[in-house]
Amino acid sequence: MSEQAVVVVVEDDPNIADLVDMYLRRDDHRVYLASTGEKALEVIGQRSPDLVILDIGLPGEIDGFECCRRIRAESDVPVIMLTARDDEIDRVIGFELGADDYVTKPFSPRELAARVKAILRRSGTPREPVGGVHKLGDVLVDTARREVLLNGEPVSLASQEFSLLLFLLENRGLALSRRQLLGGAWKVDWVGDERTVDVHVRQLRRKLGTDLPLETISGLGYRLG
Ligand code: CA
Repeated sequence: MSEQAVVVVVEDDPNIADLVDMYLRRDDHRVYLASTGEKALEVIGQRSPDLVILDIGLPGEIDGFECCRRIRAESDVPVIMLTARDDEIDRVIGFELGADDYVTKPFSPRELAARVKAILRRSGTPREPVGGVHKLGDVLVDTARREVLLNGEPVSLASQEFSLLLFLLENRGLALSRRQLLGGAWKVDWVGDERTVDVHVRQLRRKLGTDLPLETISGLGYRLG
């Protein structure tokens, strides 16, 4: 990834657009704003961005969904969708269209900026394995020793459970679909049963306690907070 990422922000509310613009510039990204789907496609064609932030509710012929569909027809650029309605349908449809993440309005611009960073890190240079010791609530994960402690007591995880935990850690803060988790943690493009993921998540929660900041995302998968 180059030092300065190019981000296109598609948002018709000027207050939100300005706020997002300000936060992204503060992180040294180069930002281009578009207030309609038509404009967005034009700007994306000209600038070949590293990432697109896309509001769903846009004026004009092309709303966010349609815009995402058209972007996907042309490129694999990561897309974060902004949705005003906190319902599953938006989320699921958003991901079916190939969006990489979503943020529900009202959102904290700081959180959005963090998601942008995480996605750029993931999509830029090949992902570096996480190292060191990580704290997740009452749980400590020592990646080098492959050791997990709950309130200071060692917990025995099956190898596949540890791989899943490690993959969640590598993508901390990102919403991951069951398919992405299967591909990442099991290292196979498994067309098999996505419930395998649920079974292993259940085991992780049982062994690591309810304090584990692992959020279920309805209709999609999981996110480690
Ligand atoms: Ca809007």
